[in-house]
Amino acid sequence: MSPIKIAIIGAGPAGLMAAQVLCEAGYAPTVFDSMPSAARKFLRAGRGGLNLTYAEESTLFSSRYFEAEPFLLPALKTFSPESMRSWAAELGFETFVGSSGKVYPLDKKAAPLLRAWLQRLKSKGTQFKMKHRLVSWENDTWKFQTADTLQEYSFDKVILALGGASWPQLGSTGDWVKILENKSLIINPLKPANMGFNVSWSQIFKEKFSGTPLKNVTLNFTDINGKTHSKLGELLVSENGVEGNLIYTHSKLLREKIEQNSPLTLSLDLFPHRTEEKLKQQLSASRGKQSLSAFWKRLGLSGVRASLLREVLSKESLADAHLVAKTLKEFPLTLDSYRPLKEAISTAGGLSFENLDTHLMLKKFPDVFCVGEMLDWEAPTGGYLLTGVMGQGKQVAEALLKSFE
Ligand SMILES: Cc1cc2nc3c(=O)[nH]c(=O)nc-3n(C[C@H](O)[C@H](O)[C@H](O)COP(=O)(O)OP(=O)(O)OC[C@H]3O[C@@H](n4cnc5c(N)ncnc54)[C@H](O)[C@@H]3O)c2cc1C
Repeated sequence: MSPIKIAIIGAGPAGLMAAQVLCEAGYAPTVFDSMPSAARKFLRAGRGGLNLTYAEESTLFSSRYFEAEPFLLPALKTFSPESMRSWAAELGFETFVGSSGKVYPLDKKAAPLLRAWLQRLKSKGTQFKMKHRLVSWENDTWKFQTADTLQEYSFDKVILALGGASWPQLGSTGDWVKILENKSLIINPLKPANMGFNVSWSQIFKEKFSGTPLKNVTLNFTDINGKTHSKLGELLVSENGVEGNLIYTHSKLLREKIEQNSPLTLSLDLFPHRTEEKLKQQLSASRGKQSLSAFWKRLGLSGVRASLLREVLSKESLADAHLVAKTLKEFPLTLDSYRPLKEAISTAGGLSFENLDTHLMLKKFPDVFCVGEMLDWEAPTGGYLLTGVMGQGKQVAEALLKSFE
């Protein structure tokens, strides 16, 4: 084993991937984490099915990282979606591509995969120091708060993999911001990504429909650059507003738009497979003695869709077939604001790439590297986050190995 002292601070997927590359090359990194066990967010991701990556053409894949794409390319070059699948397979977990292109382990679980990964790391010489919270970094001294003492360490190389600040109960609290701000590094404000938005639903609507999916709707809006977006998908009505895939996919653009001007009214097509003409014609037919609800129901207009109409139209207007048809095709969904960072799936903002060289080393502090969600990039859900953070862990570890040659 090499005597070079390498610390990895943060035992999330980014830090663990760096540890894997280093220990497999004969180094013995020490992984520090404030939590009692490693990769709690990765574990939590398993509850939703552990979407490891996305099977799609590489230029489309890299475009999912928005403006940060050029900074992510080296990570994706060394760790592509195919590499993610091989990595899982080497640990004994075959993966499959779901109908949408999302890639999951066969059992869709994170715990068995994480167990196998940690076992592999330990068997190859990675040390773990849990319940060690990084509280300061002065010159070459790194201070960690443990249950009862403040412990000081010095290292030859340090990889910071401290995560963002969403779901802080899982360990990533963003408290590294203060530590790195003291070093005069550029840190862009941490913001929610892949989050829900607040909508002022009526009490009756939220009581009845909170948790209800709204399938097969098209979301239409124009972003801050004047580009129009139109996407068919599914969103979820929540107690506070809306969330779900269709919303998360556009959360960056919607966040930017709402920051420019709030509230933000989007247009939802609640019947994308029927034209307004057709709807008008159907809604104008005679309903005889049927109640309006029964008549609508026969046309397929019931449940959450029918109640959405009642959220925006007066009782009298509901009988106006033309207005109802128009509203179904261009339902005004008003987003008041976005949900807080602590509830978001991931974090936007963070340590700016301006601080880093092409190997993700701090220009001001050679020997200190930064990877993962703590850096200023974001991507939609779909496995892009895990692929990006693990790719960066691998990228940095490979750069370190090269520097040791
Ligand atoms: C509910 C949920 C579901 C998700 N599902 C998916 C999914 O299916 N697919 C996908 O691609 N992504 C998913 N993600 C996102 C993904 O889990 C994260 O992007 C990823 O875990 C980030 O990896 P990281 O290693 O950069 O940071 P983290 O996983 O956040 O790890 C950072 C580590 O640093 C430690 N730490 C922080 N501060 C300190 C400190 N001061 N001292 C010591 N240790 C510290 C933390 O305890 C933590 O263990 C999901 C996230 C959530 C919340």
